[in-house]
Amino acid sequence: ESFTSFSLSRPILKAIAAMGFVKPTDIQAKSIPLALQGRDICGSAVTGSGKTAAFMIPILERLLFRPRTVPAIRVLVLVPTRELGAQCHSVATNLSKFSTIQICLCVGGLSQKLQEAELRKKPDIVIATPGRLIDHIHNSPSFSLDEIEILVIDEADRILEDGFKAELNEIIKNTPVKRQTMLFSATMTDNVDELIKLSLKNPVRLFV
Ligand code: AMP
Repeated sequence: ESFTSFSLSRPILKAIAAMGFVKPTDIQAKSIPLALQGRDICGSAVTGSGKTAAFMIPILERLLFRPRTVPAIRVLVLVPTRELGAQCHSVATNLSKFSTIQICLCVGGLSQKLQEAELRKKPDIVIATPGRLIDHIHNSPSFSLDEIEILVIDEADRILEDGFKAELNEIIKNTPVKRQTMLFSATMTDNVDELIKLSLKNPVRLFV
């Protein structure tokens, strides 16, 4: 199996090749076609499985395939830590380097004022930790998640372990009901199960 067997645009296929990816990993082979169809996905993938590209490739394809005339924050990726946010940002930046997709990293430790200025320009993708995103929801009047088309909750078990259940629920409530949601978790705890019921509609479950 190769990446050319998925219906992906040239700029994305070029970026995948430039990153040196030849064969999709197990989770990528399973998730890319389903995510492109718009399905909600619940994946039990761990770091190292290639799960970042597994959700980022179909996200970028959908953004490119359905361009918007007015800038909007169309994708939100929630991650448990700054480090994971930075890794996710790096994968997204590399995969989008032959397109004009704008990506904002919104985590603690970076200037909130600078992030606010970036968010006002409505980047296509926001990668955020729940704590910092809540700060923006509460403190920047112009910030909204009303135009989110795709929500990703990455490493859901770790986000919940860190005690961000209330923040997650508030963020999810701020996104449109009509959206695609992808959730990844290394472990399936009762809390994760509750979150799955709350956030996913008729999800495909992928175990890798
Ligand atoms: P992740 O599980 O998303 O943290 O990715 C783990 C590592 O695998 C990252 O360094 C990726 O760049 C790399 N990777 C992801 N997909 C592929 C692929 N299809 N072929 C080779 N390397 C990959």
